[in-house]
Amino acid sequence: MTSRHEDGPPHALPPAEHTDGHLDANAAGGALREIFTVDLTAAAGTCVGCAHAFILAQALLYTQAPGLVGRCPSCEDVVFRLVRAPDRAWLDLRGVTCLEFALPEPPTI
Ligand SMILES: [Zn+2]
Repeated sequence: MTSRHEDGPPHALPPAEHTDGHLDANAAGGALREIFTVDLTAAAGTCVGCAHAFILAQALLYTQAPGLVGRCPSCEDVVFRLVRAPDRAWLDLRGVTCLEFALPEPPTI
């Protein structure tokens, strides 16, 4: 079963609170939208394969694939894949344990 609404993109669904205390992940839409507007090449990550810490821009980038493939600069395991279509993208970050990047301070009210 998919959470995608028949008439629109997944983010068109209103957040739904489940009885076991968590929200539908659509509630994270604003936070994710903010994060993915930054330049991720400056982000620090750690390779799942060898635990090497690196800046994403240091990854070995391969463009002769159906998209972009970034490999660890130490062990050459795949750390990310990005495929772009005209109306959507697929980003696979399973080769990185965590990304750390700077964000501007939120505006004060
Ligand atoms: Zn590695």
